[in-house]
Amino acid sequence: MNILILGSGGREHAFTLKLSQSNKVDKLFIAPGNAGTQKLGTNVNINPTDFEAVKKVVLDHEIGMVVVGPEAPLVDGVHDFFLQDKDIKNVPVIGPKKDGALLEGSKDFSKQFMEKHQIPTARYQSFNSETLEEGKQFLETFNPPYVLKADGLAAGKGVLILNSLEEAKRELEEMLSNKKFGDASSTVVIEEFLDGIELSVFVLTDGKGYKVLPSAKDYKRIGEGDTGLNTGGMGAISPVPFANQEFLDKVEERVIKPTIDGLQQDGIDYRGFIFIGLMNVGGDPYVIEYNVRMGDPETEVVLPRITSDLYDLFEGVANQTLHEKTYEVTAKVATTVMLVSGGYPETYEKGKKISGADAVTESIVYHAGTTEKEDSIITNGGRVIAVTSFGDTIQEALDVSYKSIEAISFEKMNYRKDIGFDLI
Ligand code: ATP
Repeated sequence: MNILILGSGGREHAFTLKLSQSNKVDKLFIAPGNAGTQKLGTNVNINPTDFEAVKKVVLDHEIGMVVVGPEAPLVDGVHDFFLQDKDIKNVPVIGPKKDGALLEGSKDFSKQFMEKHQIPTARYQSFNSETLEEGKQFLETFNPPYVLKADGLAAGKGVLILNSLEEAKRELEEMLSNKKFGDASSTVVIEEFLDGIELSVFVLTDGKGYKVLPSAKDYKRIGEGDTGLNTGGMGAISPVPFANQEFLDKVEERVIKPTIDGLQQDGIDYRGFIFIGLMNVGGDPYVIEYNVRMGDPETEVVLPRITSDLYDLFEGVANQTLHEKTYEVTAKVATTVMLVSGGYPETYEKGKKISGADAVTESIVYHAGTTEKEDSIITNGGRVIAVTSFGDTIQEALDVSYKSIEAISFEKMNYRKDIGFDLI
């Protein structure tokens, strides 16, 4: 079986590596991929949202399965495109169709879904430019901080958490009347602030059954002690120690089962990953958001802990036989530390030569923003490399990651030295 993976980050390198370990997988193609995926398969330089180009790759290389990394192709309907095209309709796509992808593509939709299926989440209402005044009144029913969310995809920037009521009203107006986030903020969700500790749980489903994948916690801010600007993620840890069995049982009963049942009841045939962003509020789980794909860098700690054959699980998703598949996870802790370009998440330079990445033996080096040029590996993005290690404890795994990082260098390389600080 030849497989095409869409995307170019550390997440996609992690998929590529895991799938390359399956004896049922022949060739791997990654579109567009990075310098790490290039070593395990063939990079194809196309845009994953150009579906005609994706189709051509599938036909040219006899692809038997497509695994979608990022959300954009899913929200744009790559899975629907396949089902509607007679030449490729039998090629399974791991990732939901447009209807399921709305769980991430529209926060208003996902809140309605949670309300309808009684899945615990923050109290909310949605507003548009015509109901701006009602929105301002609704804000008055909360205590600070105030949470405003642009309905559509806004590259992780569409959520505002504000301390003053005046500021919240002003921002609401900016979003609704002045289109602060373009069409993404033509509807805004206002919701209650949840005070707790955040974590993520991942589910793989074939639309009927599901497997609960390991939990993870990521570190989003650029600065140590969780300060400074938000990034795509500076590191991650799996499992999350405060997500004990009692808590995870609550997550399964109150969140996962009603989500899978709700999708079925609503006629949404969902085949792929569901990333559930949760807040643990005094021991009870509340859903902050759904994403319709794996997280990055969470994938770089979740996948390496799965000891079963990932292709086999995907085959189960495609054929709706997931319940028959073996699924095992190591008890070891995995940690990942992201090496980023100096200046990221603001402006940064690309094209810096990376040395030492191939010499690392104790950790897994997942490439993210890297590319090959004249036999050298150079930086090609803000987040450059994720260094994943195992240990019996978080500290042990982190010690290995930080030791491995000493061997890697590029000009202006930056990383957080305190990943896991709140859990140790
Ligand atoms: P992501 O960067 O994960 O894609 P997003 O833009 O899709 O984010 P959310 O995950 O819904 O948006 O919110 C971003 C962050 O804001 C959350 O990770 C969480 O830290 C915080 N947040 C969101 N909703 C709430 C809430 N109701 N109470 C407290 N914090 C919240």
